[in-house]
Amino acid sequence: MNLLLFGPPGSGKGTQAQFLSVEYRIPQISTGDILRDDVKRATPLGRQAEVFMKRGDLVPDELMVEMIRERIRRADCSGGFMLDGFPRTVPQAEALDQMLDSIGQRIDRLLSLHVDAEELVTRLTERWTCPSCSLTYHPASNPPRDDQRCDADGAGLIRREDDNAETARRRAQVYFERTYPILDFYRPRGLVVEVDGNGPIQEVRNRVKVALQGEPRAA
Ligand code: AMP
Repeated sequence: MNLLLFGPPGSGKGTQAQFLSVEYRIPQISTGDILRDDVKRATPLGRQAEVFMKRGDLVPDELMVEMIRERIRRADCSGGFMLDGFPRTVPQAEALDQMLDSIGQRIDRLLSLHVDAEELVTRLTERWTCPSCSLTYHPASNPPRDDQRCDADGAGLIRREDDNAETARRRAQVYFERTYPILDFYRPRGLVVEVDGNGPIQEVRNRVKVALQGEPRAA
């Protein structure tokens, strides 16, 4: 199964991706996580990407395409993969098609999560993230068991630098202007599965499960 995950920042993509990665036994490839790691390690890619990420803007397509090309060639992707955060522009989607064609593969499904706009900014500005495994927490709907520590690995939770209100709004705007239109690129192929991402994590998880079992259809 080669799966694409779509949804605005704060839609719960990363959380659902972690469940799906276990269920389908495919690696979750989060371009945001890869970039944050590069920024932390001050690699050439990290240094170039940092300025865009701080503003909530997209990192240039050529950098992203090269990153994904290298990542999906690795052995752990031979049985399928899930892309969380890629493609985010039409040129990225076109480049992904070419890449997959050249290795005799294709996208099987695109899961798109929909969440009300006002809910998104609240979720982002209140969320805590584990810097080591990227699990996210929310004080009301998904608090950590031990205050400020990740349930999975005990690391101290942090606020992502781009989860402030101003950058969160910019990221949502960029999503709706540049990324959401890509759904129309994939729709004619009948691959798009749309799911209501509002409400508790477990409810969304159940909706996602049911939706992916059936034929692609609108929410
Ligand atoms: P995310 O963790 O998916 O919210 O991504 C965090 C930031 O990384 C985004 O706001 C962008 O600056 C950058 N980013 C992640 N994926 C991409 C992509 N496919 N294309 C361009 N920029 C990206």
